[in-house]
Amino acid sequence: MKRTLTSLLCAALLPAAAFAADKPAHWSYEGVTGPQNWAKLEQDFSTCTLGHNQSPIDIRKTAKAKLPPLEFSYSPSPLKILDNGHTIQVNYAAGSSITIDGKRYELLQFHFHKPSEEKINGRSYPMVAHLVHRNEEGKLAVVAVLFRKGADNPLVQTLWDALPKEKGEAQEVAGVNIDIGKLLPAAQGYYNFAGSLTTPPCSEEVNWFVLKTPVEMSDAQLKRFAHIYKHNARPTQPLNGRTVQESL
Ligand SMILES: [Zn+2]
Repeated sequence: MKRTLTSLLCAALLPAAAFAADKPAHWSYEGVTGPQNWAKLEQDFSTCTLGHNQSPIDIRKTAKAKLPPLEFSYSPSPLKILDNGHTIQVNYAAGSSITIDGKRYELLQFHFHKPSEEKINGRSYPMVAHLVHRNEEGKLAVVAVLFRKGADNPLVQTLWDALPKEKGEAQEVAGVNIDIGKLLPAAQGYYNFAGSLTTPPCSEEVNWFVLKTPVEMSDAQLKRFAHIYKHNARPTQPLNGRTVQESL
């Protein structure tokens, strides 16, 4: 678990120097270090191939159910942003959380994929944000916010205005606060399923909540991200009998 979390947090919280010492295998989204070969790059990555509950998935058949609403309790945070070599990520200040079935999950960070890793009926969206939360027991809950092309997104603009020029550790942007709550759509119905990290080590410890209603970002904003990461999405993985629940 410790190793798994360390690997996750490599992409999350630790400065670049901290994981240089760990010597993680280099992985990417194409070629010999791409998704098809992740499991071969390091022993710890074997779940990427051997796991049966891998993410992302193509959401098709769902079981509609009266699921509890996601209770968001988000506060503003000073902006801490980094390019971790796989995506643009924002590390969030302590004190923001979601509550699911009475359990509190603290928001650690959020980051972006282009196109969306999740598909709905075979179709991906131009981008997705993954909001990564963890509870006291170390269990993860990721909320996915899909983006369609549309109006300028003010929160995204604040982030893009502060994009790091180089890969590396998080920089606090002086005088800039963000409120991740402003990224959420008004309607917060969701798809829920058991899954994994979508990056090595692909650990199967993630409760996924994909919000059904997308939000918007402009074409110019999509292109700004594409300038740094043209394609950073893992292909969809087999369902292997998992049920996707859909809130009414
Ligand atoms: Zn992600």
